Amino acid sequence: MGAAKEFQMATEQRNVVVGERYWGAKCPECGAMTAHAPENEKPGEAQVTMTCPNGHRFSMRTDNLLRFEWGAQ
Ligand SMILES: [Zn+2]
Repeated sequence: MGAAKEFQMATEQRNVVVGERYWGAKCPECGAMTAHAPENEKPGEAQVTMTCPNGHRFSMRTDNLLRFEWGAQ
């Protein structure tokens, strides 16, 4: 139930643009900044799941998301 959708979400690669601002977080495994949603689309869920550029999947409380500029790290 919902497994196919979750798999799709896990493998989805968000199109991020250098210089644009996103909500996201640092991957706890490799430290790569990971974008979850554009700055103007703050997630409504209490917790979100992200896949970092190196393929690690992790979840983060929305309250703990960072707003950051992609490519500025
Ligand atoms: Zn990672």
